[in-house]
Amino acid sequence: MGDQQFPAQQQQPPGLTDQMTPRPDHGETSYRGADKLTGRRALVTGGDSGIGRAVAIAFAREGADVAITYLPQEQADADETARWVRTEGRACVCIPVDLTDEAAARRSVRTAVDELGGLDVVVNNAGFQWARRESFADVTSEQVERTVRTNLYALFWVTQEALQHLGPGAAIINTTSIQAYQPSTALIDYASTKAAINNVTVNLAAELGPRGIRVNAVAPGPIWTPLQPATQEPEKVAAFGSDTPLGRAGQPAEVAPAFVFLASPVTGSYVSGTVVGVTGGRPVF
Ligand code: NAD
Ligand code: MG
Repeated sequence: MGDQQFPAQQQQPPGLTDQMTPRPDHGETSYRGADKLTGRRALVTGGDSGIGRAVAIAFAREGADVAITYLPQEQADADETARWVRTEGRACVCIPVDLTDEAAARRSVRTAVDELGGLDVVVNNAGFQWARRESFADVTSEQVERTVRTNLYALFWVTQEALQHLGPGAAIINTTSIQAYQPSTALIDYASTKAAINNVTVNLAAELGPRGIRVNAVAPGPIWTPLQPATQEPEKVAAFGSDTPLGRAGQPAEVAPAFVFLASPVTGSYVSGTVVGVTGGRPVF
């Protein structure tokens, strides 16, 4: 096990930001916008915390209105994200929803479209993993079900619903993972969903390119978010990220610019069907 990075700590899923030591950096005091998403309307699933919160803040500072989805237990985190977005003078639509429920997932997209008055950017970012297990034999059907429904099925449902409203110039961005390339034994089901997301990203980019819609993914390495203490063993959390070439975990604020790059017609107009790695040096090929 690597060097201690964080105090050993544990939460239960979905995890809350206020219970983390130290608190993650979502770019609250650092991210500077440059009109890269002026007037865009973006849906960010799992936008209450972690990477999703950093993306919501960055998008707002680039001039976008935002809708975020989250689980009802995460209302406090959602309120905090909304506060930062609204401080920029941008709208933040808050939608509590369990995305493993197909009807509710589809409904949540329609709510976002109605409240935002349309949709230009979809960030499929909600995700679930479970790593507190010894071996493959310990993987339960319930864990597989929850992981696949959250990471893969919900991505299909949300994207299908969104596509009824996306036009030329729109962008879809999926959150994949270093786990798609270098899977951990304890995350076998999760890693498989992330590999599938890469495959779906390339495939959808091929279908939607002729409609002027770009589809890409961001592959984070170890990033300091509630997901980690909520799903990993405390001693794994303590060493989290120490085995990367850069020798540390990343902060959500360090991942958000990749989403901006892919979402923006200014920077990403000819970028589709690819994966941007933000991994602290681990390979994404
Ligand atoms: P996070 O816990 O802050 O965000 C994940 C969000 O997913 C939660 O806030 C929650 O709102 C949402 N979610 C989970 N289950 C849901 C459900 N059933 N219905 C609706 N929403 C649900 O953690 P994060 O690390 O920012 O995760 C964001 C994405 O980044 C995930 O897809 C995750 O797999 C991916 N990722 C994270 C890391 C990392 O090290 N943190 C690395 C690679 C990829
Ligand atoms: Mg959360």
